[in-house]
Amino acid sequence: MILADLHTHSQYSTDAPHDGTSAPALMAKAAYERGLKTICITDHMDLCFPGEPQSFVFDVFDYFRTLQALRDEWQGRLEILIGVELGLRNEPDRHEGIRKAYDDLVASYPFDFVLGSTHIVRYEDPYERSYWKKYGAIDGLLAYFEAELFNMEMYSCFHSCAHLDYALRYVPANRRIAPRRYDALVEATLETLVRRDIALEINVKSLARGLAEPNPSLKYIRRYRELGGRMITFGSDAHRPGYIGDGLARGEEFARAAGFTEYTIFRGGKPEFVPFD
Ligand SMILES: [Zn+2]
Ligand SMILES: [Zn+2]
Repeated sequence: MILADLHTHSQYSTDAPHDGTSAPALMAKAAYERGLKTICITDHMDLCFPGEPQSFVFDVFDYFRTLQALRDEWQGRLEILIGVELGLRNEPDRHEGIRKAYDDLVASYPFDFVLGSTHIVRYEDPYERSYWKKYGAIDGLLAYFEAELFNMEMYSCFHSCAHLDYALRYVPANRRIAPRRYDALVEATLETLVRRDIALEINVKSLARGLAEPNPSLKYIRRYRELGGRMITFGSDAHRPGYIGDGLARGEEFARAAGFTEYTIFRGGKPEFVPFD
């Protein structure tokens, strides 16, 4: 049974509620009440976010001060890890500067765990319908997976690849395309993760919402293992306390189906394996 949720957002994230209901203290309380042993708070840092450059940026000094105090307060009852979800970018005029900024960030603060995410492609978020209107399903997905492959090769500032097939969450249902069009890119990305010792996140947000598969889907989790990948991390991607831990139990079933018998928790940037039992 998985008792660690390593992908959660508090009010330090631009897209979480800012009315006090997603305060870190309430996240910790919810995690404890749900029987978790470990929670990692991984707020969004997406530098140069399109449109609003200051959105998805937070005060890291203040973040650490708050979370370190919370960690001390809960010691012995709930383990609180301090993480971040970094938005990686592949646009030619962005990636070099952003890479330096993230390298500096992770060298300057003692993060336990860093998620590497591809959210923005060609200065747009595939979460938006306008992205699919502009590029269509095939080009939109190929552009996404090309960007992710580039990011997994290029950046060294993170431990686990978050929601590998994120774009598949948002491609309009009536415009899905045959996987073989982008499978070669995903295969190359999985090989990169294995070669570079990067963990694969099983993001269970979709399962908590009643969808059939986590992100990534079972076939990619299985393929990561076949290629030699051994580190999987689990996260609910909750943006409010009420969703913390949701979907972890079902996520575990997918990992077991792919042949995994243990999962990974990062502490101080170091992976530790925990059996499912
Ligand atoms: Zn994300
Ligand atoms: Zn997230």
